[in-house]
Amino acid sequence: MTAPASSAVPAVILAHDGEAISLEEAAATAAAGPVRDALKAALSWAHVAWSKRFGKPAGLRSGEQFDAYTAELAARIRAVGIDPVAVLLDFAQRARVLGADQGLIEAGAPRIDLGSDVREETRRHIDEAVGTARAKIAEAADLVEGLERGSFKTINRQLAVADQAGNIVERTARTVTNDELNEGLAAAADHVGGRLVWIAERDACVMCLALSGHVIEPGDAFDWRLTFGAKAYPPKDYNAAGELVEIELERPPRHPYCRCRVSPWLGHDEAAARAVTHDWAEAIKEADAKGDTVAADAARRAAAAARDSAAFDLPAALRREAERSILNGYALPSESERIRVQAADRLLARIGAGKNSRSPSGWQVPASVKKRAERALKKGTFSTRSVPTGRK
Ligand SMILES: [Zn+2]
Repeated sequence: MTAPASSAVPAVILAHDGEAISLEEAAATAAAGPVRDALKAALSWAHVAWSKRFGKPAGLRSGEQFDAYTAELAARIRAVGIDPVAVLLDFAQRARVLGADQGLIEAGAPRIDLGSDVREETRRHIDEAVGTARAKIAEAADLVEGLERGSFKTINRQLAVADQAGNIVERTARTVTNDELNEGLAAAADHVGGRLVWIAERDACVMCLALSGHVIEPGDAFDWRLTFGAKAYPPKDYNAAGELVEIELERPPRHPYCRCRVSPWLGHDEAAARAVTHDWAEAIKEADAKGDTVAADAARRAAAAARDSAAFDLPAALRREAERSILNGYALPSESERIRVQAADRLLARIGAGKNSRSPSGWQVPASVKKRAERALKKGTFSTRSVPTGRK
């Protein structure tokens, strides 16, 4: 397995990342789409009925006709049914299975059913989010009905509260698929007796990049205090009593919309890695004995991939790549440039000015990379914020 020059992440994991993103997108559309469509229909009724009854959207209205209008609109909003629980659970299960399958492949182990039960926390998370989304719809209906006078613009402002329902459902779809994907990946690591390595996308945030390439033993937690930024925040989740509490960072996602993942890590000590993965030599012998050349070829390829991945120091490559991302300012538009400039500044200070100075993870940072980062700091802005290659 050779990683493309543009990325430290092996091609098989990049492909798996792509599959996971597709599943996440499908979950977001399937869960939030119907909610948004129903609200859109209510809004379009509101618009048409307003112009028919009252004319211009900016005109201020009140009185009996206005009350009848707001009552009918409120009823239509309340009729918007939100029931994405089954869809969310279905995608959570699919993500769980996908994660386990991907993890076994990444570990060079044969496929085995590791179950599709989603976590209790996932069920709770889904129930709570759907409850909150329903409450937003009800709140919007109450706000509309409570109006005594207003223009169509006033009405529209109240309806913005209902829009949050779609956003909540979408965010939940993305979080639970990611959550369960990583749960499956961890189950695969557990099955093969491997550790877990954190893999961040190259344009991940300063907190997630600081974890990329970090390895933990099964059952341990990642160190949430790590960040390239000024301050790290502890991960939180709701407990069974509905209180927001600090939790251990066992695996991604670290925050909403986090696209980090873990992968089973057997170490780049070839012999040790081969000892815990599948006995491919035996599989090849068996297939040869049966005269099954297709199976024998497949087993030989799997053996070669397992050997390469065992010899490749993925954690070191990931840490180097994360530091490069900070120095190059690769980021998503959602992260402020100020945070990235400060992070690059802090990392440059740690690397130091010496000609052969090394980064915290131990590689010799080329002078050209340092110079480019220094130029960006002087200007206070990175000219290339997006990752230049076609990753994803
Ligand atoms: Zn992340």
